[in-house]
Amino acid sequence: MQADYYYVTQQREQLDCHLLHRQGCPKMPVKDKLVFIGSLYAPLQAMTIARVRFGQQVKACYFCCQTHKG
Ligand SMILES: [Zn+2]
Repeated sequence: MQADYYYVTQQREQLDCHLLHRQGCPKMPVKDKLVFIGSLYAPLQAMTIARVRFGQQVKACYFCCQTHKG
């Protein structure tokens, strides 16, 4: 398995939530607006860590962190 880098937005966005992104996502903001979560193997793993750090107001980005991708 290959790990990906995951980031969470520092500011809450329009949905009043932090968004979890995977590196390479076209919707990801510039890096100075992101907090690095870690180098991880699955979006769910990244989400777990993100919620420990930011609370329950973290949502997975629709474009890069869908858990059912092939
Ligand atoms: Zn994304």
